Amino acid sequence: MKNREAIEILSRPFSMQEAPKEILDAHRLAISALEKQEKKPAKAKFNKRYNKFVYFCPVCGEVTGNYDFCSECGQAIDYDNSEPYEAEEDNE
Ligand SMILES: [Zn+2]
Repeated sequence: MKNREAIEILSRPFSMQEAPKEILDAHRLAISALEKQEKKPAKAKFNKRYNKFVYFCPVCGEVTGNYDFCSECGQAIDYDNSEPYEAEEDNE
């Protein structure tokens, strides 16, 4: 479901008795969008070569580049309370 479609569905009046699938889908999308606005701690991994921490998105794993939001999935990132990066396959 596209954002615009969800906004239109959520903007029109409806009764909770009907709650057809498209309304429930629009609600899920809206909740997911709100959750992405809540900051989640970045995953921090120390890079020895560059002698600094590299931060990863806690949701999709993309490098965040110290931006406030992940460029891949839109998750808001909290750098002040970052957690250690734990890769499943860490060969260092
Ligand atoms: Zn992400």
